[in-house]
Amino acid sequence: MSLIDKNKASKSNNLRPNYQQEPKKRLTISNGWLQKTEHQYSAFFSLREPQENINLLVIHNISLPAGSFGGNHITNLFLGQLMADDHPSFGDIAQIKVSAHCLIRRDGSIIQYVSFNNKAWHAGISCFNGRDKCNDYSIGIELEGTDDIPYEEVQYQQLSRLTASLQKHYPLITHENIVGHCDIAPIRKTDPGKIFNWPHYRQLLQQHNNIIITNE
Ligand SMILES: [Zn+2]
Repeated sequence: MSLIDKNKASKSNNLRPNYQQEPKKRLTISNGWLQKTEHQYSAFFSLREPQENINLLVIHNISLPAGSFGGNHITNLFLGQLMADDHPSFGDIAQIKVSAHCLIRRDGSIIQYVSFNNKAWHAGISCFNGRDKCNDYSIGIELEGTDDIPYEEVQYQQLSRLTASLQKHYPLITHENIVGHCDIAPIRKTDPGKIFNWPHYRQLLQQHNNIIITNE
């Protein structure tokens, strides 16, 4: 745990809204962007064609360096600003152009990098229900984590809250169309890992969906 504190950037933490103040309020989406949420604008995206309906949610994990949490390395990667010299493991990835729509950090804070209405570069070579190039029609959410370290409860809360809002906004993302990266690129990818508690997530998601329906 000492690594977490050491690497935490207090400056940016101060900017993050405190989710605990409004734990059940729906996240609102306007023009493809979450409102009242930190935005960091990645250039690593492609335009979606108007006919490309969003019908898939892909859940990932990421940590930089692997197994270390906190700090701004993930954001730096998605912004193309990761410094190869900052860690021995960064040399191979500093030049990679990847992104996700959102990151949910260990403290539950959410950062959005790419408009949901555009394609983030998160899935790579991938296939869902016989259709390849999942970036074209999916939204990618990264959890700060690894395949074998339990995720924080607040991450499940925020992921389910975010998912419910996305389903409200993009109704073709049905429950069957929420998958892990491991499901659409099974030879290459293992995230979000066996540690990810799918039943817990789906139970929370059902609760958030009920809240949204009740509040209509
Ligand atoms: Zn992934």
